Amino acid sequence: MKIILLIDMDYFFAACEELRHPEYKAKPVVVGADPKGGTARGVVSTCNYLARKFGIHSAMPISMAYKLKKDAIFLPVDYPYYEKMSNSAMQVIKTFAKKFEQVSIDEAFIDVTGKVDSFEQAIEYARRLKGSIKQETGLPCSIGIGANRVIAKMACEAGKPDGVKMVGPEDAQFFLAQMKVGKLYGVGNKTAARLEAMGYKTIGDLAKANLANLVNEFGVWGGELYRSARGESDDEIIENYEIKSIGRERTFENDTNEREKMIKEIESISKEVGEEVKKQGVSYKTVTVKIRYSDFSERLKSKSIGHYTDDPREMFENAVRLFDSSIEEGRTVRKIGVRVSGFGKSKGQKRIAEFFSA
Ligand SMILES: [Mg+2]
Repeated sequence: MKIILLIDMDYFFAACEELRHPEYKAKPVVVGADPKGGTARGVVSTCNYLARKFGIHSAMPISMAYKLKKDAIFLPVDYPYYEKMSNSAMQVIKTFAKKFEQVSIDEAFIDVTGKVDSFEQAIEYARRLKGSIKQETGLPCSIGIGANRVIAKMACEAGKPDGVKMVGPEDAQFFLAQMKVGKLYGVGNKTAARLEAMGYKTIGDLAKANLANLVNEFGVWGGELYRSARGESDDEIIENYEIKSIGRERTFENDTNEREKMIKEIESISKEVGEEVKKQGVSYKTVTVKIRYSDFSERLKSKSIGHYTDDPREMFENAVRLFDSSIEEGRTVRKIGVRVSGFGKSKGQKRIAEFFSA
């Protein structure tokens, strides 16, 4: 049995701003696009809990946030500063981890199996971690504890803000059962709608589903949904994910929403990554595309292509497919990235282990 923690920084961008402007603490703070007196496009990136009391939330049009609370503190996104704060927090988190996997600028999964002997002990351990993060960075976070990533993530959501919540293996199914199926970690709006149409309204319904029906509808993913709903998913924490991938990112000179321009960039990045792959003498089977929008929100999408390859054309084609299936129409993009991972041996060249220890 594994013990997994998900550490999620609370209202991260806004918390960073409060840290360097303590005078904002007692005020609603909204980080995102400039509202320009309510006429701007663009969206809210993050807001603090005071702003949430006025109905403001992330991804909401900034013009609407402005309507809800004109005299809130509206701030632009200062990504370099947040990244610096994120790195400090991640350094602390790493020291508590047996395995560490950062999944976004303000979230990381850690495996602490063996560092603690029980889920009860993990609560104390998480509280210490939380205290250390606060001490080192001044930032608040919430921590969820469970036997797998899904439970850890959802426990964390339930414990927010500033909470530590543990959902042990024997409580997992009960904890999930009453929630709407769309709340299940990893289920987006489209999947939720399909599940609801199949008659699965709650996660509890999904846990009692006929597995064959799910696999029919969703393929392998259907099995994963079923296990997740039952609290039984078993995704490994992928350590040093960044190291075990080769990738490149590029920022557009001007943010763009032109598909042609973005595809051209993907092609050029794929070519470069392909050259690095050849140089390292590896093959990969997973392609990941990253889209960072103008408001700095990010979308990552990965696909396993089912076999090892080092063909840059194949990388490009898969990257385009991933791009098309994840880009939100009309939104302007600031940065785009392609990376490959899931390495295997290629034509008897340098072994992967040697490559990574180099
Ligand atoms: Mg967060």
